[in-house]
Amino acid sequence: MSLAQYLKSFLRLRTCKDRKKWLALTTYQAPHKPFLLLSIMDLIAQGLIIKNFIEPSFELIETFNGYWKSIMPLGSKTSMPYPFPRLKTDGFWHLIPNPTFENQININFSSMAKLREVCAGARMDEELFQLMCNPETREQLRAALIETYFAPEIRTKVLEQGHLNYAVYRYSKKLLKVDEWKKDFGKVTDESDWQKKIRDSGFRKTIVSLYRHRCALCGIRMLTPEGHTIVDAAHIKPWKDSFDDRPTNGMALCKLCHWSFDKGLVSVSKEYQVLVSKRVMVEQNFPGHILTLTDRPIFTPEKEIFWPEQDNLHWHRKNTFRR
Ligand SMILES: [Zn+2]
Repeated sequence: MSLAQYLKSFLRLRTCKDRKKWLALTTYQAPHKPFLLLSIMDLIAQGLIIKNFIEPSFELIETFNGYWKSIMPLGSKTSMPYPFPRLKTDGFWHLIPNPTFENQININFSSMAKLREVCAGARMDEELFQLMCNPETREQLRAALIETYFAPEIRTKVLEQGHLNYAVYRYSKKLLKVDEWKKDFGKVTDESDWQKKIRDSGFRKTIVSLYRHRCALCGIRMLTPEGHTIVDAAHIKPWKDSFDDRPTNGMALCKLCHWSFDKGLVSVSKEYQVLVSKRVMVEQNFPGHILTLTDRPIFTPEKEIFWPEQDNLHWHRKNTFRR
């Protein structure tokens, strides 16, 4: 099929058109399929999808959730098991079952876990995939989705989310380039909200993936099938004091360890072992398992070049840690 024909089928996606459920904001239709297609195009632009085989990957879910969160009213929930299989009804999307699940492909999966169990991924019509790989035609497809499924007042925001995704990706790539570390990390004075968003998300993306979603201090790793992770990206020396987003100034920490680290109840020794403040011993309400971490080696990224820098750890021990 040609670009014109795919543009036409993008205008006629089979969506839920229940006016009680969906607002004028999304032209009284469910926005799941447009968000999913926009997310796929974002990952193609970032080089994260390079062949015509779309997996329900963590990156895809995260990108999809990013669109949802920035556009939809607060508190409205969604999940990828809804649009991923249902795109099949639009003709250009072909689900690929896992071995032994050939006859169990349907469009009603209740959870990500079930979707992943049954379905390896999906393939698009090859012509459509090629149109998405070409930057020019990709932007035409993107524009068609945005103009059809979103009210005029939020179209810019939807488009911007795509730009943001690309900028975050670029920034996170830059943070991994050791040659770049000497440049550009000077004092930042007038940072716009947009720049801050890119920096925060890029730093997070880099750290969380270097630590593979594992807390550096306690080792917990929890990643829900819906793509939510237990870890945050924490600065060792706070950004406002360091302006330093290099991976060597960060660690992935679970919520409890992040809080404890920022409050100075835990730190990291010269030997990369967990230090626990004596205050924890006298505070009866503090979870006991923190104490058991004392002197345990921390979890680090695979490559030593990305490990926390000693100067930063020293700063934390000196300025934040309560002995
Ligand atoms: Zn932890």
